[in-house]
Amino acid sequence: MNIENLIRKNIKQMKSYSSARDEFEDFEKEMIFLDANENPFENGVNRYPDPQQKSVKSILSKINNITEDQILLGNGSDEVLDLLFRAFCEPRQDNVITLPPTYGMYDVLANLNAIENREVILTKDFQPDLVQILEAVDQKTKIIFLCSPNNPTGNSFSDESIVTLLQKFKGLIVIDEAYIDFSDKESWLQELNDYPNLIITQTLSKAYGMAGIRLGILYASKEITSILNKIKPPYNVNVLTQLKAIERLKKNDSVKKEISVLKGNKELLFKQLLEVNFVVKIYESDANFILVKVDDASKRYKQLLEQGIVVRNRSNQTLCENCLRITIGTADENNKLLNTLKSLQNA
Ligand SMILES: *Cc1c(COP(=O)(O)O)cnc(C)c1O
Repeated sequence: MNIENLIRKNIKQMKSYSSARDEFEDFEKEMIFLDANENPFENGVNRYPDPQQKSVKSILSKINNITEDQILLGNGSDEVLDLLFRAFCEPRQDNVITLPPTYGMYDVLANLNAIENREVILTKDFQPDLVQILEAVDQKTKIIFLCSPNNPTGNSFSDESIVTLLQKFKGLIVIDEAYIDFSDKESWLQELNDYPNLIITQTLSKAYGMAGIRLGILYASKEITSILNKIKPPYNVNVLTQLKAIERLKKNDSVKKEISVLKGNKELLFKQLLEVNFVVKIYESDANFILVKVDDASKRYKQLLEQGIVVRNRSNQTLCENCLRITIGTADENNKLLNTLKSLQNA
């Protein structure tokens, strides 16, 4: 496994932009900063942010027992995923593999970067189809995206299938763990040191309740993070985002409490949905949403909208015919959803 061989040639050769704050980065000392053409009058955001987000990384490294140089932060997961394409996938030559039904951004980013996306549909029980995946791999396959727990199905992929892919595939394996905090399964973070081709992405958008600040996290070997660091926009995570993230990460207890409430709400909603007569199937979920098969998804979607409830119609995705994806809300919101669904039983 040689990461060096996977990097695009132009990326390997390029020099990164050296920002003022890269060249002098000691924030601790009382210095007079006349190097970045900032406005000197203090208002809280008049200075450029720390390009390496050291304070945020320091907390994340402690929470996850990982070194700071194994972390890369971005403007949402979408940015760190895009950086992966840019660093490793040669436009019009390389390809990636994704496993539909899954998160739509992988395909969007592949298209944006002119990279072929080889879609290998999940098995009927929403697991990776190992035979088909390994058959789809060729010399130009750079990345396989595994979303676990998967969006929109909600299930996690089996450990065996993930290990098999990590061992057999000679490119990069990205495990998107956007929903890992809702799962009883362990993150793959502690396996980072065992697999040089493993990349894990997480986000503050879901369990941490901070979709509005846009903070995506990538964990990988420092060999990989240093390449991504070289090409990322210098000030990609703004001052306000860093401050808010630090505040929230320090209150880990309240995050845990919210997660536990949402997991309880999910168990309850799961049971209650079984009582709705047009619900055909409810899929087990390790995430903060449930995929529900109904008699007629478009019809039920519209009926819910008319009653002021917005869910996601996933019907047009492979294997998701007549499926709605329902995010777990507060107890009150879930009750309203359930009462509305029951009132529609004869409609
Ligand atoms: C919501 C979600 C994300 C989060 O994206 P952000 O850009 O960090 O908000 C990432 N991956 C999956 C699968 C998601 O569902």
